[in-house]
Amino acid sequence: MTEKITGYDIAVIGAGVTGCAVARELSRYELSVIVLDRESDVCEGTSKANSAIVHAGFDAKPGSLKAKLNVRGNSMMTELSKELDFPFMRSGALVVCTDEADLPKLEELLERGKANGVPGLRILSREEAHETEPALADGVCGALYAGTSGIVCPFGMTLAFAENALANGVVFSLSNAVNGISRTDDGRFLISADKGDITAKCVINAAGVYADKIHNMVCEPSFTINARRGEYMLLDRSAGSLVKSTVFQLPTKMGKGILVTPTVHGNLLLGPTADDIGDKENTATTRGGLDTVRKISALSVKGIPYNQVITSFAGLRATGSTGDFIIREDEKVRGFIDVAGIESPGLTSAPAVAEYVRDIAAGILPLKEKADFIPTRKGITLLAMLPDAERAGLIKQNPAYGQIICRCSSVSEGEIADSINRPLGATTLDGVKRRTGAGMGRCQGGFCSPKVMAMLAEKQGIPIAEVKKNG
Ligand SMILES: Cc1cc2nc3c(=O)[nH]c(=O)nc-3n(C[C@H](O)[C@H](O)[C@H](O)COP(=O)(O)OP(=O)(O)OC[C@H]3O[C@@H](n4cnc5c(N)ncnc54)[C@H](O)[C@@H]3O)c2cc1C
Repeated sequence: MTEKITGYDIAVIGAGVTGCAVARELSRYELSVIVLDRESDVCEGTSKANSAIVHAGFDAKPGSLKAKLNVRGNSMMTELSKELDFPFMRSGALVVCTDEADLPKLEELLERGKANGVPGLRILSREEAHETEPALADGVCGALYAGTSGIVCPFGMTLAFAENALANGVVFSLSNAVNGISRTDDGRFLISADKGDITAKCVINAAGVYADKIHNMVCEPSFTINARRGEYMLLDRSAGSLVKSTVFQLPTKMGKGILVTPTVHGNLLLGPTADDIGDKENTATTRGGLDTVRKISALSVKGIPYNQVITSFAGLRATGSTGDFIIREDEKVRGFIDVAGIESPGLTSAPAVAEYVRDIAAGILPLKEKADFIPTRKGITLLAMLPDAERAGLIKQNPAYGQIICRCSSVSEGEIADSINRPLGATTLDGVKRRTGAGMGRCQGGFCSPKVMAMLAEKQGIPIAEVKKNG
């Protein structure tokens, strides 16, 4: 990765799903683009800690950007997951009602969904709901069914955008925090970052919970971002088939409520809570938060084996003061595009947000399509997903694929080496985990971490004690 110090057409600040999707979209055009992130890997912010649901789009207020980009993003997901090779399943969702007095709220959601253009919505009676998901709690008295809802690997999706953008010429400058932005005499932006100054004709602010801080470096304050924490419990794969679709409760003004969902990796996920905490760094889980997850999840699904919890985590929603996604060129500072307040459904909307930002960028710079754009990307081959014969063939070609390092998730030395050696490869334990699943299983890396650390140390030429868990 060679970094030009100066002279980019576009600088994207933030390598979460939003920044990476935008970068990938812009890489279709003859532009020089750099993505800057303060962390040492992509997907280190909110994009790594969320519910991983591709929302159908019945929840957002009709006419809002959230509604429009959610539904568009959802409709793009099947094709995109094939093109960029990331895990996505259209597994459906139920919004369950546990109090007969609330049944009209399901109708309201149905109407809102129709107004947003969501296909495949229908109301299920008590009996139909229990038939669809036999593990629903006895108190469930009706549900809204959304057939277009799905589950995705948020790391897989973000990495796919990033790797494809990289293959199409985008520069990734990681461990490079932006500390200030000003305008030069010739109307460019001068970005001062940890690794030096960068100039760009256009800046795209995709800095998640810090998007207000980045905005205020060069624009007049016009919005704030509050960190709303959501806590989760992740259960072992042995619990993953308790439900086959995502089970939501009725949404509140704080969010979509506590859900119970299978993940694309076969686990069961419970959460999130919703607490306005203000602290933009605080992703700690709390006893109170996890107790709430436990108590409320049991209202919608019965028989959740809470003794199968393998880890807990929390993510921070970047809740904007306008109530909607804030995606616009600043009125006074031309060429500065905010992509802010990207809370849920930000993961779902990412590809549609990218198109929307491209259209704004087209009003700032000429966008000429590249003749040699590479639209596809191939992810790491995960051997556990392959039929026996195919797996045996790969092991014959490279015996490292036969050396299992992560026993819980059956990840081999060969796959871990691939994750470290590929372009934009892993440099930390968490980086390997997000790319291969090693350390994501029942023992949470207790067994495989030393071996993964040794491989990272060898690649980086550093003592094993200097290998980091994350950025
Ligand atoms: C609890 C919870 C549940 C959610 N569930 C869902 C869901 O099921 N479905 C869905 O569609 N959406 C969901 N979301 C929303 C979704 O996760 C987010 O909208 C999305 O991940 C936001 O991505 P982002 O790239 O905008 O932000 P981030 O992923 O936070 O990326 C921002 C990046 O900016 C970088 N940065 C910040 N400051 C600087 C700086 N000064 N210099 C350089 N880099 C900087 C950070 O390091 C970070 O990598 C959920 C969110 C939460 C918190």
